[in-house]
Amino acid sequence: MAKYGEGVFSFYDMPHDDKVVRHGLTEKRSYTEPERQTDIVRDVDVIVVGGGPGGVAAAITAARNGAKTVLIERYGHLGGMATGGLVNIIPNLGDIYGRHWIGGFCQEYIDRLKARNAASFPPKETWGTTDEYQVTKHLKANMGHFYVRQNQDKEKVVIYSAVIDPEVGKDELAVMADEAGVELLLHTWVVAPIVEGKTVKGVLTESKAGRQALLAKVVIDCTGDGDLLMSVPTDVEEYMRPGSRIAQFGFVDWLCGVDLDKYDAQDPEVIKEAAAKIMAEGGSAHFCRGLLENQHGVVWIHRLIGSLHQTEPEEMSYIDKTARHFAVHSWELLKKYMPGFENSFMMLTAPQLGTSGGRRIVGRYWLTEEDMDRDEPFEDTIAIFADNDRGDSSLAHPKTYVPFRALVPKDIDGFLVACRAFSADHEYSEFFNLIPHCMCFGHAAGAAAAIAVRKGIQPGDVPYDELKKILLEGGAILPE
Ligand SMILES: Cc1cc2nc3c(=O)[nH]c(=O)nc-3n(C[C@H](O)[C@H](O)[C@H](O)COP(=O)(O)OP(=O)(O)OC[C@H]3O[C@@H](n4cnc5c(N)ncnc54)[C@H](O)[C@@H]3O)c2cc1C
Repeated sequence: MAKYGEGVFSFYDMPHDDKVVRHGLTEKRSYTEPERQTDIVRDVDVIVVGGGPGGVAAAITAARNGAKTVLIERYGHLGGMATGGLVNIIPNLGDIYGRHWIGGFCQEYIDRLKARNAASFPPKETWGTTDEYQVTKHLKANMGHFYVRQNQDKEKVVIYSAVIDPEVGKDELAVMADEAGVELLLHTWVVAPIVEGKTVKGVLTESKAGRQALLAKVVIDCTGDGDLLMSVPTDVEEYMRPGSRIAQFGFVDWLCGVDLDKYDAQDPEVIKEAAAKIMAEGGSAHFCRGLLENQHGVVWIHRLIGSLHQTEPEEMSYIDKTARHFAVHSWELLKKYMPGFENSFMMLTAPQLGTSGGRRIVGRYWLTEEDMDRDEPFEDTIAIFADNDRGDSSLAHPKTYVPFRALVPKDIDGFLVACRAFSADHEYSEFFNLIPHCMCFGHAAGAAAAIAVRKGIQPGDVPYDELKKILLEGGAILPE
């Protein structure tokens, strides 16, 4: 199978050797925690854990549809990786034929940001175009793998992908949550679900207020890493193919004050020489251009670091420290050697270390490679994804369907998963666990949770026609 972004990742990987020192004890020991009474501080309809792309879509949709909803987030802002991780490109909203597939909550978010001059994307009339100006513009930004694909005739085609301003993005999500009536509990970690038998009843949190309990009729895991899956008695899969896109940490930084006109005016040999010097001194000269219209002189640097242990604190500590050093060191070398970077400064490093894969639920439907080649919708289709990243397979199957059952555990009540921990094998996750996909999962899970609460049934049992109605009202694009 073709690899996502083939030829791109190896180009700007941060060198990562196995230097993580693990100071764990060699012999297994344990501590029995004393029994304790924990205050119950909320009893609501829906609790959404994690305010990333999946979580905001889930919480806002549940609240809009009448459910009393609390959204719990460990950091002080919403958006998850899409804002705090600075991975602010929302790709694959359409296919190479110019057809738009991801609408719903994701499109609403982009529209609202566009209205605030905080999103940009190729104009609609250029989706699917081979127009040289559009193709060149996106290739020049080093974002070909997000915006440009090849068609059957091997021509380069522009697809509909958007880029957003993460700071306005955080604010807009908070505005949307407020408008919907979602209660936000920020700076609060969910440490475990409350499970009775086969039913999830709520969550335990830790914050500056200490340990607290919150109860709900439906809990939705939107932690990205499937944190609740560690304690919910259900099947979980963690396999990732080494070297694949999901087996990577990411660390992003932004430089500003870059004179790109000066950089562009250089002889390519001058750029090559400067890049060689930077690499010889242990840095990287690779960067992407911000495509936001109001951000002149801003460049983004995405570093990717292979890892199969993206939830392990020792590895996260090592990567955060090393990637941060590498980012600053590379900028110092760019400033020293690269024409155009003389007056640049480091504007921002991502507050959140980028994780892209890990724990996944094995739900009522387990999506696999075969499902990517399926041309028929499921009877419970909640989203259609443009399939642009699998080379010839994508040309043969330019879209793929997602069933609601991929968010529903096999044998647990009161619980859904609506983030990149959805039910899929590593091959399927490799292509379909990005921001727009997680927003679609959240949109569907939030709608299902609200219906379940209103009807007094389990979220996995909601009638599909009612779920579909809410999704269509929210702008989702679904099969006829
Ligand atoms: C380097 C890199 C580049 C990427 N580039 C892109 C890109 O350009 N475009 C794209 O679409 N996708 C990209 N992705 C993938 C994308 O970031 C994720 O697929 C997407 O963010 C997943 O959304 P999510 O809601 O599942 O999880 P997340 O975005 O990780 O959000 C999870 C949220 O839950 C919170 N949380 C986690 N655990 C807890 C807890 N226990 N208690 C409380 N809160 C908790 C987190 O703080 C976070 O806010 C990239 C990923 C990486 C690593």
